[in-house]
Amino acid sequence: MSERSIGSARTLSAGPFRLGVIGDPVAHSLSPSLHQPALDALGIPATYERWHTTLSELPGRLQFCRSAGVLGANVTVPHKVAVIDLIDDLSPAAKRAGAVNTVVNQDGVLFGDNTDIAGFAAAVSGKSTRRTYNRALVLGAGGAARAVVLALEALGVGEIVVTNRSDIRARELVESLAPAPVSLVHPNSNEFKRELTNADLVINSTSIGWKPNESPFELALLELVPRDALVVDLTYRQTDLLIAAAKQGLETIDGLPMLVHQGAAAFALFTGRQPPLEIMLAAAEDARR
Ligand code: NDP
Repeated sequence: MSERSIGSARTLSAGPFRLGVIGDPVAHSLSPSLHQPALDALGIPATYERWHTTLSELPGRLQFCRSAGVLGANVTVPHKVAVIDLIDDLSPAAKRAGAVNTVVNQDGVLFGDNTDIAGFAAAVSGKSTRRTYNRALVLGAGGAARAVVLALEALGVGEIVVTNRSDIRARELVESLAPAPVSLVHPNSNEFKRELTNADLVINSTSIGWKPNESPFELALLELVPRDALVVDLTYRQTDLLIAAAKQGLETIDGLPMLVHQGAAAFALFTGRQPPLEIMLAAAEDARR
């Protein structure tokens, strides 16, 4: 998380304030469902909205975020990278990840952070029965995978192996996140199978899994994964991968805890208040239903 304590000096009695999620599309975003009950529970006079924004509208949207009365915004697909050129300052974590998911407005100055990193770390530490991991296999090389790799590094995972459809994107990830202990294998190769047998943590951070009958690799290969491994899918539903892993007796975590923890970390930055985690978790589960 950020080294700056952004929200701490805020006076939140004046209001009304506005917050929102910036993306294209945003209709499906669960962020309003998480944040509004948390704002209401703490008596903060603010509304959290969906701000549908195309790439050409992004500069104007960020200019609007500098207005008095706007506390900040979450940023989602596809703007997490493009937003970097439109804000004033970045946390070290966001700079390293090359992606921003939270923008805080402090008197017209915009500060960007990446709470996906802390969100993933908190989800794994909070939900898993296992305490330490030696070797993780990360599927995907997009913005979410970059946050996952940095979180794994922070959790002290000794070896992180990434596999991705696009070789170029995977190489970029490995090179730009050094000195994280991250290396690369080709998908569906013998090396990939060997990594499945070695992994004590397997993470799907691709966008594959939203629909039934799709999975990031052949599900029969789950037989290779050690029985005490943890399988995580960033998709916030029970994907085919998670269902098959659970059938094999593997421990699993879906994307909802990460979503809630990244939202809670963003809430703390926006408001300077302790986020009501249980309220956010219950609201997210309701919204998912
Ligand atoms: P990106 O668009 O940046 O990356 C998408 C990734 O999925 C890339 O690695 C891409 O590979 C891969 N991919 C897409 N389609 C295919 C396919 N048909 N076959 C193989 N690989 C494919 O998205 P993000 O990294 O931002 O998000 C990834 C997922 O994580 C999304 O589902 C998102 O909702 C989820 N997420 C969940 C969060 C949570 O809090 N639970 C937080 C952030 C994200 P390639 O590089 O080859 O295109």
